[in-house]
Amino acid sequence: MSEKSTQEQSLEDLYAEAQEHTINVGDVKIHAKRMGGKFRNLKWASNFLWLIFFIGPYLRLGDRQAVLFDIPARQFHIFGITLLPQDLWMLSFLLLFFAILLAVVTALAGRVWCGYFCFQTVWTDVFTWIEDKLEGTPAKRRKLEKSPWNAAKIIVRAKKYTLWFLIALLTGISFTAWFTDAYQLWVDIFTLNASSTVYTTLLLFVVGTVFLAGFLREQTCFWLCPYARIQAVMIDDTSIVPSYDVSRGETRGRLVKGKPTSDDQGDCVDCNQCVAVCPTGVDIRGGQQEGCIMCGLCIDACDSVMEKINKPIGLIKYASWDGIMGKKEKPLLKRPRVWVYTTILVIALSGVITGLTSMEPLELKVLHARQPLFVVQSDGTIQNRYTLKVLNKMNKDINVSISVDKANDFQGLIIKGAEKEVTATHGTVTAVTIFVKVPRKNLTEKSQDIIFHIEGTDALGTVYQSDRNSVFIGPKR
Ligand code: SF4
Ligand code: SF4
Repeated sequence: MSEKSTQEQSLEDLYAEAQEHTINVGDVKIHAKRMGGKFRNLKWASNFLWLIFFIGPYLRLGDRQAVLFDIPARQFHIFGITLLPQDLWMLSFLLLFFAILLAVVTALAGRVWCGYFCFQTVWTDVFTWIEDKLEGTPAKRRKLEKSPWNAAKIIVRAKKYTLWFLIALLTGISFTAWFTDAYQLWVDIFTLNASSTVYTTLLLFVVGTVFLAGFLREQTCFWLCPYARIQAVMIDDTSIVPSYDVSRGETRGRLVKGKPTSDDQGDCVDCNQCVAVCPTGVDIRGGQQEGCIMCGLCIDACDSVMEKINKPIGLIKYASWDGIMGKKEKPLLKRPRVWVYTTILVIALSGVITGLTSMEPLELKVLHARQPLFVVQSDGTIQNRYTLKVLNKMNKDINVSISVDKANDFQGLIIKGAEKEVTATHGTVTAVTIFVKVPRKNLTEKSQDIIFHIEGTDALGTVYQSDRNSVFIGPKR
């Protein structure tokens, strides 16, 4: 993805261009200049990570989607693991993990999430790339914006909006595809057989994506995003963020051909290229600001200017404020907040790992009938009714036998309803009603513990089993 470099423009051209680029105060749309550079490449690489969002739903594992958040069935299938509502406590640990990870990254390196990974930034970057390809440089785009509607403008705008609409539609379909069979979804949408929920979701995504990424774009990061407001408390003078080297750059001043520079002139030649490429219209030379999403594009721009005027690169660079001011920087491991964050991260991650490793593929739940608690049979035996719920979290069906654990000390116990093996369907709960009968004379207590046991063997010979305690209730003794 090669984009134009300032190397191809003369310094005079850059000065002329600089007039057009203003600092963002929210009154005009920012038309950032696009150019190549290592941070630009990094941004493209991080944009491509979002392909997982588009491709992910089409991956299959066995007869099912590899990752499927099946809300109607209240089951989440993630690469062969089935999570049910009772497993969702792990989600709180996972959310805690990502929240703290975001805080750690922000404390150490500022808003890199915003600059490289946030969907708002990524979609805006793609939308403005399309705009740049169709409408040209920022100067041409501004001109087109002000020009009256004519055939040429209608055609170019129609092309742009069509591409934006298609990306927004694909975004909506991709989002929905994580919650239903992805292949069937396409068929249902285009044969008009999808549910109203699907069409509403698509409508919201199309409108939201085009509005936020196409029209509102950088103003979202600048004025609307709450994360921009809270980052201030996470960043300190040791955070490594894009910074302008004031001592080296000031006093800034333009280079004029044939005119000597003054003695106090710094390396900043006031070309405004750092502002021109900034997607949020920030002038980084004014210090760290809420609007800076820390994408590093101003570093690329300034480096290319420095190369042009034969000065060392790095007038704008990733550095801490302490570093810029020449102070000794505190080592990472001596910062208390690093230890606090790391401890929370480890706790959250341990919670998720413990949850995943302790999950049983086959689970048994037992519900004892309440109405009536027991029935006295004509032959003098006491009968209790139970509903056994066999939860098969695997992605294959399995036949299970039901028994009462041998540890139970019931003489003459009979189970009815469990003579044959039961097929526990994969990824769902299979309910079975059984009756347990015990001769009255063999009951020693009004309520005695009883342990139910299920066991099944798959085609590979792996044995799966689960136990669950319940009670057997009889009349008062
Ligand atoms: S100031 Fe630099 S790092 Fe910050 S948003 Fe603008 S281009 Fe990106
Ligand atoms: S900081 Fe660099 S890019 Fe920005 S005006 Fe100065 S020389 Fe130009």
